Amino acid sequence: MKLLSSQVEGYIERSSWIRKMFETGMVLKKKYGEDAVCDFSLGNPDVPAPAAVGEGLKELAGCADKPFAFGYMPNFGYPSLRTKLAAAVSVEQGVKVDDTDIIVTCGAAGAINALYRAILEPGDQILCPAPFFVEYGFYAQNSGGELVTVPSKPLTFELDLDGIEKAINDKTRVVLINSPNNPTGVVYSQEELEKLADILKKANEGRERPIFLVADEPYRFLAFDDVDVPSILPLYPYSVVVSSFSKNLSLAGERVGYALINPEMPGKEELLAGLVLTNRILGFVNAPAVGQKLLEKALGSQVDKSIYLERRDAMASVLDKAGYSYTMPKGAFYFFPQAPGGDDVKFCAALQEEKILAVPGTGFGYPGYFRLAFCVGVEVIERSVDGFKKAIEPFK
Ligand code: PLP
Repeated sequence: MKLLSSQVEGYIERSSWIRKMFETGMVLKKKYGEDAVCDFSLGNPDVPAPAAVGEGLKELAGCADKPFAFGYMPNFGYPSLRTKLAAAVSVEQGVKVDDTDIIVTCGAAGAINALYRAILEPGDQILCPAPFFVEYGFYAQNSGGELVTVPSKPLTFELDLDGIEKAINDKTRVVLINSPNNPTGVVYSQEELEKLADILKKANEGRERPIFLVADEPYRFLAFDDVDVPSILPLYPYSVVVSSFSKNLSLAGERVGYALINPEMPGKEELLAGLVLTNRILGFVNAPAVGQKLLEKALGSQVDKSIYLERRDAMASVLDKAGYSYTMPKGAFYFFPQAPGGDDVKFCAALQEEKILAVPGTGFGYPGYFRLAFCVGVEVIERSVDGFKKAIEPFK
């Protein structure tokens, strides 16, 4: 009996590298003990949520006996939260945003899926720089689209703008960028984004269906060394920002995020109506009531960024001591070093021998590199130095 669709069967068969590492990690931890394994495989924020989240939860408990305390609300989210969000993102993006430009979603993932369902025709293409967040391919296919990737420049991971321009064709419907980036930590510069916007404006000439520029920004808050994370909104009218509170409030499991439509987009009301509908019919209905109410109280707070900064510097020091090549991440909580010897899968296996878990770049559409997530304490990072040194030896 065949229970699954062929597509999902295929997905499971080619199951993600991150999941494979997670499973290997479980085996290693069981065999050698939790403390013996240095697990850099998962980007699951471990830094505790700020105090406002706990305080908000206590307050919410006091409202639980009220009728409709956690009932349905408009599919776009609680109006009061939308107003507060509009004020907060106006500051972040440097652009005046109205509450009607925003829909609250089940995380950035929910926002991307609702958007694609609203705008894609079967066979439409999503153009995205590689390496890329693993789920992007699935999200495209969920709505009949296809993810097409353009490799970023080696080691620095700047955008290959010529490559992007050449890859645009009649089927291109979205260009999707993620900055600060998972898995590279790159932050795109104002100049790169301006050039990208110019390419898209030119490509849009004579088109009935515009190309959307979508910026996936759950790591916007986590930029280091005072680097600026430029907004795409002033650069290109058909742009949408998707983001969430998974990382800046360590609320990844609570599923609250948003899609923000460029206030200057011609016909934006139609796009918003589409998103409200698809958010509903995809079965999200609305973002979680508890998460939204918490957000109203916690908006403006964030996790202690200095913890991530300390870890980034500790990881850089470990990689330097062990002789790895990498570009210092300017944001997010990942390193994407070159795999010594060039074969990332083989090298990650060598790291595993040293009880270090990393994800091969192949899993992110960019072989020859590997990803390290620093969602672990500094002590784990420092402890890994000998393992990194031993793993690289045979590849020198
Ligand atoms: N986009 C990127 C680049 C991510 O790294 C993640 C999660 O790790 C997501 C989207 C999904 O985030 P959310 O929890 O907001 O759905």
